[in-house]
Amino acid sequence: MSMTRKRFDHINQRIAEAMQNSQRSADSPVTLLAVSKRHSWDKIQALYELGQREFGESYVQEALEKMKQSPHKDIIWHFIGPIQSNKTKDIAPNFHWVHSVDRLKIARRLSAQRTTHETLSKPLNICLQINISQEPQKSGFSTDEIFTAIAEIMTLPHLKLRGLMAIPKPSKAPAEQKLAFKQLRELMQQLNQRFNLQMDTLSMGMSGDLEAAIAEGASIIRIGTALFGPREY
Ligand SMILES: *Cc1c(COP(=O)(O)O)cnc(C)c1O
Repeated sequence: MSMTRKRFDHINQRIAEAMQNSQRSADSPVTLLAVSKRHSWDKIQALYELGQREFGESYVQEALEKMKQSPHKDIIWHFIGPIQSNKTKDIAPNFHWVHSVDRLKIARRLSAQRTTHETLSKPLNICLQINISQEPQKSGFSTDEIFTAIAEIMTLPHLKLRGLMAIPKPSKAPAEQKLAFKQLRELMQQLNQRFNLQMDTLSMGMSGDLEAAIAEGASIIRIGTALFGPREY
């Protein structure tokens, strides 16, 4: 069995067990996002052949190169990296999802630039990144800021506001991991109620904490190294 196959089976096994332990209903599935940043096209192709369709990238130019190499029309491309405002014009028309919208200005630009012929009628799915552990060096809206920003973001015409994303402070303690994910879930519930929204996506959980994230309701988990091995470059 190939290394890729082994890793893919192992992650899917962990997800299946976590789903069972959390007693989530069948109508709240979890999506495995394969984070392929700093891995070559060949690695993506190998996972594609095993059935994987959702891939996450963090660097715009690198991602655009891979999209050019890809013969597959059914890959769903997610942008999950930090966003400089001069990059939104390349992100808006080329991705299906952006998880890392961390300021109002970026949301405005993504909406304004989602206007090519092919994308005009398909809103860009976005998640708002929340600095859930309140780390000064980390990007993301604070839990206060989000209540004012979202009032405008929800009106932007070419975006579809799908949910929230967070990268909590790393911890090895399951109880601590769960606390941050629970806070994100409750924040989404509050925002949905207050603004009458139907956000349905919690992008949370990585290789070391996917069990805690699934227990707290993750809908997309973002896995890189545990699927692809160490990054190639
Ligand atoms: C790189 C990255 C991941 C995946 O990290 P690994 O440690 O390789 O599993 C997940 N989420 C975000 C936002 C990332 O930048």
